[in-house]
Amino acid sequence: MRKKPNPNKFKTPKNYRVGDKVIVLTGKFKGKYGNVQTYPNKKGRILVEGQNTTYRHVKNTNDPAKPSGRVLKENPLHASNVRVVCPNCSLPVKPRIRVDIIEEDGKRVKEKSRVCRRCGQAFPPVKK
Ligand SMILES: [Zn+2]
Repeated sequence: MRKKPNPNKFKTPKNYRVGDKVIVLTGKFKGKYGNVQTYPNKKGRILVEGQNTTYRHVKNTNDPAKPSGRVLKENPLHASNVRVVCPNCSLPVKPRIRVDIIEEDGKRVKEKSRVCRRCGQAFPPVKK
């Protein structure tokens, strides 16, 4: 009998945000920097601007808006092969998520923020 896929196997990593500067750790584009373009998908893969590119041979259509010929395309990278670059100490880190409980109008509210593991400084919030 076929085993059911474990739903926790492809847990989407939550410590990546669109616009983060990341460094690629493995493969052909090892050591290169880029900005995150998409939030991790179900398989934990993210698209990094200008990284993990390949050429696609696209057939010419009569639509001038669509590019044809050899077209550069970005491919998603697995989030484990990518580290966020800390804006404070500029080292590649896996951000830790810190939960602060603050009192707001008599109510206790949880506030989540991303913190660098190496220097302990909080990441500035990313604008949407
Ligand atoms: Zn840091």
